[in-house]
Amino acid sequence: MKAVSKAELYRRLPSVDELLHAEELAESVSREGQASVADAARLVLARLREEISAGALQENQVALAVSGLAGAIEAQLRHDVSFSLKAVINASGVILHTNLGRAPLSGLALEHVQAASAAYSNLEYDLGTGERGKRDVHVDRLFKKLLSSSESSPQVSTIVVNNNAAAVLLALNSLAEGAEVIVSRGELVEIGGSFRIPDVMAKSNAILREVGTTNRTRVSDYERAINEKTKLLLRVHRSNFEITGFTEQPALAELVALSRKRSIPLMEDLGSGALFDLQTVGVRGEAGVLDSLRAGVDVVTYSGDKLLGGPQAGLLSGRADLIARMRSNSLFRALRVDKMIYAALEATLMAYVKRNYDHVPVLRMMGLSKQAIESRAEAVAAAVPKSKLRLEIVDGESVIGGGSAPSAVVPTRLLALTCQDLSADELAGCLRANNPSIIARVEQGRVLLDLRTVFPEQDATLIEAFRNIPE
Ligand SMILES: *Cc1c(COP(=O)(O)O)cnc(C)c1O
Repeated sequence: MKAVSKAELYRRLPSVDELLHAEELAESVSREGQASVADAARLVLARLREEISAGALQENQVALAVSGLAGAIEAQLRHDVSFSLKAVINASGVILHTNLGRAPLSGLALEHVQAASAAYSNLEYDLGTGERGKRDVHVDRLFKKLLSSSESSPQVSTIVVNNNAAAVLLALNSLAEGAEVIVSRGELVEIGGSFRIPDVMAKSNAILREVGTTNRTRVSDYERAINEKTKLLLRVHRSNFEITGFTEQPALAELVALSRKRSIPLMEDLGSGALFDLQTVGVRGEAGVLDSLRAGVDVVTYSGDKLLGGPQAGLLSGRADLIARMRSNSLFRALRVDKMIYAALEATLMAYVKRNYDHVPVLRMMGLSKQAIESRAEAVAAAVPKSKLRLEIVDGESVIGGGSAPSAVVPTRLLALTCQDLSADELAGCLRANNPSIIARVEQGRVLLDLRTVFPEQDATLIEAFRNIPE
C-alpha cells in the first residue's frame, strides 16, 4: 500500500470555519463565543500539522485525531479560559510560605481594596484643599500611631515601595550612593529568589565595606572601618539561617552608640518586620520593628507580607529627614505601589490600631492552640471512612517562615496520612491534583498536613479530598 502524502494528510484536516459550525462544538461556541473557540481550534490544528510535518502521524492516526478534534478543542478551551493563578489550600504548616503567596489577606483588607479601586479614590488628592495630595499619607498616619512612642521620638515616618528588596535598594541609593556602607561578613545574606546583599549594594551604587568574619564580628571592627567615605552602618537580619557555636555579633545598642558617636546613620534590614510581640505566641528572640526603632536604629526596612500579614510591599520606617531623602529620590517613583496595595495595607494596619489582631489571618493562625488544631484534626479523621487510607494524629511543629528565624516554630498536631497502594509522593500528588489543590509536606514516607494554615471552613474540602483518593 502506497503511503499517503503529507499534502493529502493536511487536506484531511477540517478548516477552522468548518469546526466552528460543527454540531459537537455548538455548545462551546454559545458558551465561550466564536473567537475563543476559533483560537483553541487554531492551536489544536497547528499541533496536528506539526506532527504531520514531522512524519509522526500515519493515515489512520490522522483519521483518529480528526474524529477526536471536538474533544481536543474543548480541552484546549478549558485550559485557555481558566485562570492560571488560583487559590490553594496550604496544609504545609508554613504560615508565611513565599511560594504560596506569603500572607493571606483579611476580608476587611479585601473589602477596602474593592471599595478603593472599583471606583475613583482620593489616592493623591487632598479633599480639604481640592489640591494634589501624597499617596503615602494614607498609611503614614497609621504607622505613626503604631511606631511612634515616647522612647522613639521624634516621630517616625514611613514610605511604601514594591517589596523589601526595593526598600533596601532605595535606602542604600538614597543614603550612600558612591559612598561606603559597613556590613558584617556574618550578615552578607542571600534571601531566597536571588536577593543578595552584595548584589543589591552594587545595584544601588553604594560600596560594600565588609568587616569581621563569618562567625564573629565586634563593634570595634565597625569602628576601625569608618572613614570619611562611610555614610551608613547596616545590620541585616539573618532571616533564613543561624550561626551557632563560636560566634559574636555586637548588640544593637553598641551599634547605635557607635552610630551616634560618629554621626553615621544606622539602618537595619529586618525583613520579617513584626508589628506585634511574637512572644505572645511563644516565639522568642525575634525583634519587632518597634524594638529596633526604640533601640535607636535610624531606618528599618521590612516586608508588608511577612509577619505584618498584609499585601506585598516594602516598608521604610525611621527618621523623618532620612525618609524624606528617599521620598525625593527618583527611584522612589519607579518603585512606588498601586492604590490596591495602599488599601490592603491601610486596612491591615487599622486592625493593629484597633488591636483586632484576630482580623489578620497570619496572626490568628500563629495564635491557634495545639488543642484547637488537634480537635479539628480529630474531626477530619473521624469523617473519613477507615479503609486503605490511614490517618493518624501526631506531634509536630508549624513554621512561621517568611524571614523570621528558622527556629521560629510553634508546636502543633499533624494529620499523618499513609496509603497501602500509594507512595507518600503519589499521595501528595493526588492531593495537589484536587480542585482546589491541597499542599502538604512529605516526611519519612508519610504525608503530613497541618491544619494551622488551613482555614477552618476548608476542613470539609480536605475530608472530601481524602474520601476521593483512589484506592
Ligand atoms: C525577606 C527579606 C528580604 C526581601 O524581602 P521581599 O519583601 O521578599 O523583597 C530582604 N531582607 C531580609 C532580611 C528578608 O528577610
